[in-house]
Amino acid sequence: MITGTTKLLGVIGYPISHSLSPVMHNAAIAHLQQDYVYLPLPVSPDRLEQALKGFEAIGLQGFSVTIPHKQMIMPLLDDISEVAQAIGAVNTVYRSDRGWSGTNTDVTGFVAPLLDLALDWQRSQAVILGNGGAARAVVAGCSQLGVAHIHVVGRDAGKLEAFRQSWLDAIDPPLSVHVWEDLPALLPKADLLVNSTPVGMYPKGDNSPLTDTEAAHLKPGAIAYDLIYTPRPTHFLRQASERGMKAIDGLEMLVEQGAAALELWLGCPAPVEVMRRSLLDRLTRF
Ligand code: NAP
Repeated sequence: MITGTTKLLGVIGYPISHSLSPVMHNAAIAHLQQDYVYLPLPVSPDRLEQALKGFEAIGLQGFSVTIPHKQMIMPLLDDISEVAQAIGAVNTVYRSDRGWSGTNTDVTGFVAPLLDLALDWQRSQAVILGNGGAARAVVAGCSQLGVAHIHVVGRDAGKLEAFRQSWLDAIDPPLSVHVWEDLPALLPKADLLVNSTPVGMYPKGDNSPLTDTEAAHLKPGAIAYDLIYTPRPTHFLRQASERGMKAIDGLEMLVEQGAAALELWLGCPAPVEVMRRSLLDRLTRF
């Protein structure tokens, strides 16, 4: 119940109506019986600075950050975690003794479903499709796992080279970049293959970043991880399962990045299962 003492959390983005975060966080808050509410906060890019001052004025306790603010908000914050600096994006802002502190929980979210797998990461190679914002969290996650080599595949040689250079000295595993045509040679080496492109996302669920000819090169027994969570499974994950790979979709990352943010705001363990169920319930209604 919202009362006169209820504290405010929220998510900023533009647009924000598509966000599933309010569903997931309010389910968690209700389960924990905490006196908080989590609101969608549409903020246009030209009003970001003004919005931040408003949040200060009304005592907002913390907020999630989504497109298009993840980079733009960084110079406006008082403190930015190392992981957010490495990724170059903030997805969670909380209050600390330094003021507004920004971090990025996507790495924790990405890594979470991989931690329980009995894989010798130090002997494993990761192949990441795409070199956009989410790929940066995936690279940081693969580095945290301690993989032997990270290969990033993209379609724009200039962007790929800039991506490679941005990681020099920032991570331990060697990182090499490749164009799409290199896939037949790369896929058989991929112990972990991640789709960080939007290809195959609803409503274009018949698409996949891999052609069926390319998919024939997938390594049986390896892990295929799609950051997309609608549809479930994606065409990419169906191709991977047909080749005997273990499939992980983006729902776990979404839940776990949210859980890590909630823990920062509330200072208590997040009810991950409640959050997962609230999202599944919401997604099956579409
Ligand atoms: P982004 O910054 O726009 O990057 C997208 C990347 O995909 C870019 O490298 C882009 O290449 C590439 N790409 C786009 N269309 C392509 C195509 N037709 N063929 C080949 N490559 C293509 O987007 P993002 O923020 O990284 O998000 C990527 C995906 O991850 C989205 O589906 C998003 O929903 C998902 N995601 C999920 C979670 C989660 O919690 N599960 C979190 C974050 C993101 P160019 O640069 O050449 O255009």
